[in-house]
Amino acid sequence: MGSANADLVVAVERRPGAGETVLGSDTVVLPGGKGANTAVAAAKLGAKVSLLAAIGDDSYGQLLLDSLSAAGVDTGLVRRSERPTGVAYIFVTPDGENSILVSPGANSALASEDVDLPGARVLVASLEVPLATVEHAVAVAAENGIRPVVNISPPAKLSSKTLAALDPMVVNEHEAAELLGQDADPRALLELGPKSAVVTLGARGALVIEPDGVHEIESPQVEAVDTTGAGDAFTGALAAQLAQGADLVTAAMLAVKVAAISVTKRGAQPSYPTTAELSL
Ligand code: ATP
Repeated sequence: MGSANADLVVAVERRPGAGETVLGSDTVVLPGGKGANTAVAAAKLGAKVSLLAAIGDDSYGQLLLDSLSAAGVDTGLVRRSERPTGVAYIFVTPDGENSILVSPGANSALASEDVDLPGARVLVASLEVPLATVEHAVAVAAENGIRPVVNISPPAKLSSKTLAALDPMVVNEHEAAELLGQDADPRALLELGPKSAVVTLGARGALVIEPDGVHEIESPQVEAVDTTGAGDAFTGALAAQLAQGADLVTAAMLAVKVAAISVTKRGAQPSYPTTAELSL
């Protein structure tokens, strides 16, 4: 469950200042959004995935439906809103930095009434959709024996009831610092209430934090070309493994491999490996 956006990527020499017009490259339109990326990552690994999301009745929405279907994601729960499909305007400067403006559009319309988790084993959610809808979905999951995995990105304040259901909460280092304060021990994440937590550490891999201890998961060393969507690759792979019954440490060990492969290729969804590519 999460966002589905069209990513409009333009290479620019420099960002336009106030009142200024700058010419850029041709626009590259790519399917994106944390929810869609995560769903595609899990489906490419063979998991049976359904995406709960909202798109508009427009060509960007169709682009997203096509990319989801091509990856094997069931789109029966993708709602059509009267609002336009979410768009991320991404300016890339020669130093490789991105400036991103997101217009959430239909993502903002995903409502609690839309939540349906038929036959699910794992619910994976991220927070580019309304917080109240995510909290409702986590409650439905918890009541129905579905394992809730929430990527707290972008950072938001979840209720203590929601936090207590998470198994795990997934955050990157910056999000962990926002939740706990700078230089705090990541083990303190469990004091926020979740049953378990995972902190992604970029090229350094990930930390799995469980009540019985902390496990450091090293990443394979790779030449990173484009880290866009690496966090979503990680979360999707983690959820796919959990749905197959793996324990959290085993799931994270596969997730760092999947995410490492994803950073060696351009783009988000096109960079995610299939199970066959993983075993090469
Ligand atoms: P993003 O915003 O780029 O999608 P993120 O900030 O949410 O990612 P990161 O911790 O940067 O999360 O990356 C997620 C995972 O991707 C890491 O745990 C790691 O497994 C993998 N990863 C990211 N960068 C690299 C890298 N340079 N080399 C190998 N693996 C990487």
